[in-house]
Amino acid sequence: MNLLLLSEEDFTGANCVQLQGRRFKHVAEVHRASVGDLLSVGLLNGPLGKGRVTTLTSGSITLELHLDQLPPAPLPVTLVLALPRPKVLKRVLIAASSMGVKKIFLINSFRVEKSFWKSPLLGREQMDEFLTLGLEQAKDTVMPEVHLRPLFKPFAEDELPAVIKDTLALVAHPAAEERCPRGLTQPATLAIGPEGGFIPYEIEKLAFIGFRPVSLGQRTLRVETVVPALLSKLF
Ligand code: SAM
Repeated sequence: MNLLLLSEEDFTGANCVQLQGRRFKHVAEVHRASVGDLLSVGLLNGPLGKGRVTTLTSGSITLELHLDQLPPAPLPVTLVLALPRPKVLKRVLIAASSMGVKKIFLINSFRVEKSFWKSPLLGREQMDEFLTLGLEQAKDTVMPEVHLRPLFKPFAEDELPAVIKDTLALVAHPAAEERCPRGLTQPATLAIGPEGGFIPYEIEKLAFIGFRPVSLGQRTLRVETVVPALLSKLF
């Protein structure tokens, strides 16, 4: 945790917050903070800065805040990700959030197991917890949006054309002839398939809408590896 992410409920005064639970434990046990120390803090969807420790008890910490910095620039990319298995979803959400992705569509695909859609990890609170871990890691405050789209065809036909408007739309596909571009200077939409890959119909559908299939080379990578690899290459 490189940043203490604060919400409005933490405030006890205009510039003062009191923290208990996970964040208190981290500050006490990992930072081993003392009264007077300065810690990196940020307000959820707001500015960042420093918090001076004013009191420290066995169960809570109080900080006096000075918030004067903007959060880091977001990555200009929308991720369209075939819903992975829950434990992979957790890793991907943390990684994407820490890398600055602000918009994610979790979509269905023929090779997504139906049971994945019933996972409790898809609950708003649970996903926010993973996204928060990414923000804390990267010293960012802006919570990404995650949208669930459990029907591929209506999403692809009715919504995706507007999502990719004014962006470079790429679908990561190991069999594609074109190599993934690097160092983009324009916004992108990036589609990533399920563990078994997109089926030909889905690749054709995405290509028809305007996605270019691109490859990262002959090594087929896991979804949790391919997301940071693609984002690093593209931006
Ligand atoms: N056998 C599947 C296939 O050939 O599509 C492998 C799927 S891979 C585990 C999951 C997803 O990661 C793929 O659908 C693709 O979007 C992305 N991916 C993995 N390796 C890739 C590579 N070398 N180039 C482009 N995309 C890749």
